[in-house]
Formats: sequence, structure tokens, C-alpha cells
Amino acid sequence: MIVVASKNGRVGIAAAVDVLRRGGSAVDAVEAGIIPVESNPEDHSVGYSGYPNLIGEVELDASIMDGLTLAAGAVGAIRGYEHPISIARKVMEELPHCFLVGTGAERFAKELGFPTRDLLTEDARRVWHQILEEKAPEVYGQRMKYLDSIRRFVKITADPEKPNETVNFLAQDVKGNIACGVSTSGWAWKYPGRLGDSPVIGAGNYADNRYGAAACTGRGEMAIRCATARSIVLYMKMGLALAEAGREAFRDLDALVDPFAGSMNAVALAPDGSHAAFSNMPEATYIYMTAEMGEPVEAARIFVPPAKPLP
Ligand code: ASP
Repeated sequence: MIVVASKNGRVGIAAAVDVLRRGGSAVDAVEAGIIPVESNPEDHSVGYSGYPNLIGEVELDASIMDGLTLAAGAVGAIRGYEHPISIARKVMEELPHCFLVGTGAERFAKELGFPTRDLLTEDARRVWHQILEEKAPEVYGQRMKYLDSIRRFVKITADPEKPNETVNFLAQDVKGNIACGVSTSGWAWKYPGRLGDSPVIGAGNYADNRYGAAACTGRGEMAIRCATARSIVLYMKMGLALAEAGREAFRDLDALVDPFAGSMNAVALAPDGSHAAFSNMPEATYIYMTAEMGEPVEAARIFVPPAKPLP
């Protein structure tokens, strides 16, 4: 029994392991691990207090996948609900669909009785205003210019403002079943309605009991274009060892022509419980915790340098 997570999963990993210890499923563990991260006011990349989009709305994305059945659920660009991971799980379990976005996802959450909450904290609002004012005054003054300015604006305000990034959780339960979950407020100051890789099954999240699981953080557009999470699992299916499967999926990113290329990270878990994580940035880390451990261990990600230096 093991839980593997991105570093900002530290606030939830013990709860996830506890679920496994009590005989809960990998899907239960993933959800239990992500919920505290979504509520963490210190984390501006997930859930409550996430950084907003360009127009100051916190839009959340999440997905969950059950490696036993390959069932999956996802929500994208949902506003006003603190726990998109739980809503994504309900999409998986209650609907004949996999993916709801925007007002449809909000309607579904309301029908199920999920509580609403204003997710934009004073802290996040202050940073949003400051960024707009300092770095894109023409956008700040005249919102009508958003369309003209989005490319430049997104470039100058990209990831440095996001210290913790999206959260990834992978778990393997007592029966050997694997699940994965991802939750995020996405790229800070993104164009409204933008979806990254996190809610896109195969791009930011994928689990299959037979071959393993993987989940991503970083510039989601890259993982969407290369189907990175699924690629790692597929490379394992094709016989590559875990470390080599991750490296191969990261080498695929080298083919991207992308003026906004940025950081890309993945965590991965094999059916035998072995794990690894990858990054195109040096010195990145992830965490894991088994049922026997009292606290999580932070371990180095395998650095896979991009063929071209990042812009
Ligand atoms: N992958 C997320 C997205 O593109 C953001 C992140 O991990 O920093 O929305």
C-alpha cells in the first residue's frame, strides 16, 4: 500500500495513507489526500485560494481515474465549489459521462448538494491586482484589450507566480488496485475557460492496474499535446521500465514547437508498487508514503533536460 504525490500533497498524504490502512480503496485514498490540499489557503494553485483567471474568477479543474475499471471522471473550469475532486468522482460514479465543464459542472454540483464557497481569497485577489497593475497596465486599465494582450500577458505572468503548482495523487490499495487524481486552479491569470491537462484524462492523469499510473503538473498545454500521462503508462505496457518510460514520455515533449514551453513534471507508479517522478527542471522533488511509514519521504525527481533550453 502506497501513496505518491506532488510535494504540495504533504497536507493530505497522511489522510490518504490512513484510508488505505483502514482497507479503503485507492480511489478513496486519492480523494481523501486531495481534499485537504484543495482547502489549504497557503496553496494558490489548487482549490480555495487558488489564483484566478485573467478576469479574477477562480476556475478549478480536477480528474480522477480508477485503474481497476478504467472509469474516469473530470470537471473543468468550475467556479464556486471548493472540492472539484469530489465532484469529478461523482461524475465518474453517477453519470454516463466522463467530463463536465463550466456551468454544466456547476449545475451538477448544485444538484448533488455540494456547498458553494467564494474561492477568491484576499491574498490571491491582491496578487492578481498587483500583477495586472505592474505587468500589464494596459490590460488593467482597459479590459476590452484582453484579447489583444493575452499572448504577451500570459507569457510575462507565467509560472513564477505559482510556487506549489497543481496537486497529483497516485495510490495503490491493499488489493493492489491503482487510482490517480489531479486538482488545480490551473495556470494563474489564464484566459477564462482555458483547460489545462489536469482534467484531461490521458494528458494530465491516467491509471491502469495492469501497467501503472501517472499524473502531471506544469504547463498543461504540453501534456495535452503529447498525452503525457497516458504515454508513460503506455511505454510501461510496451515493456519499458518505469524510469525509462518516464524519460521516453519526456523526450516526446522535445518535438513540441512552443514559444511558451515551460516546466513539466510527472509522478508515476508501477503495478509492483515501485514509483518515480520526472521533471524537465533540475532539483525537483516529490513525496511518497507507504502504510508502514509514519511520515512521507521527499525524494528527487529524475531530471530529463529538454533538448532545447526553455524560453
Ligand atoms: N498543469 C496545470 C495546468 O496546466 C498547471 C500546473 O501544474 O502548474 O493547468
